[in-house]
Amino acid sequence: MAIFLFLIGLSVGSFLNVLVFRYFPEESLFCNLKKTHGRSKCLSCKNPLRWYELIPVVSFFTQWGRCRRCKSKISWQYPLVELAGGLVFLLPLYFKSIPGLNSLFFTYPSFFWIFNVAWIAIFLTFILIWIIDYKFYIIPDELNIFLIISGIVLMIENSFYKNFSQFGDGSFLGGFSMLFGVRQNIWINHLYGALLAFIVIGLIILITRGKGMGMGDLKLAVALGVIFGWPDTMFILALSFIIGAIYGVYLLISKKKGLKDSVPFGPFLILGALAIFFFGYDILVHYFNFFSLI
Ligand SMILES: [Zn+2]
Repeated sequence: MAIFLFLIGLSVGSFLNVLVFRYFPEESLFCNLKKTHGRSKCLSCKNPLRWYELIPVVSFFTQWGRCRRCKSKISWQYPLVELAGGLVFLLPLYFKSIPGLNSLFFTYPSFFWIFNVAWIAIFLTFILIWIIDYKFYIIPDELNIFLIISGIVLMIENSFYKNFSQFGDGSFLGGFSMLFGVRQNIWINHLYGALLAFIVIGLIILITRGKGMGMGDLKLAVALGVIFGWPDTMFILALSFIIGAIYGVYLLISKKKGLKDSVPFGPFLILGALAIFFFGYDILVHYFNFFSLI
């Protein structure tokens, strides 16, 4: 089962690569797909690729990262995104390994399907936003809208099953979420998260006059607020600032960028979200241990 899911994920990953390489910032993300749906070509010599040159990850390594014909280098983006797609499709196995969720899946099989499809869709969108923001300094609106819709689907599902939960107690922070209140109603809770993101990032944009972050970052942060709710969103924002600051200092020290250069912030928001998604509870345990509050 794991191998099967992983292989599907690899091919979905190579589809994401196609989306990114045919993307032009002025146009909608999907309109170029129809326009240029022909066969995949080498980006330098324009030769159509044969089936054995299109095997996710494998082709890249058997060809030593180069085109068979013109020997020009193939971007590392191809195997990395394919691999990321493969890993995303292993999420159902990760969810099943969480006891509270697994028993929920057992009682409500339909919960399992909606929950997994929504989260896989969210993670695949994260991959797209990461690369597109990194390459073009832009986050397409349709991706943020898609995230918000997925977040609403998860909320509807959770309120329907009266569980108010991603992970049993309604937060990726486990019992710690109780410390921060607003846990009676999932809609109010997630609205609170979205509002917080809107205010924090909105203020930063106002103060820096849009030099530090753009509207795409604002919309992404609000979308994360809709998906993760309160207080998870607060920690995602805090982590993304910390990670972004560390990366900024690294860039300055290594002289890769100067003070005036800007760095896309979307990937940091996503890193913060991933950290809370996978390690939210552990991060808080360490945090409170560090200040010896427990
Ligand atoms: Zn070539």
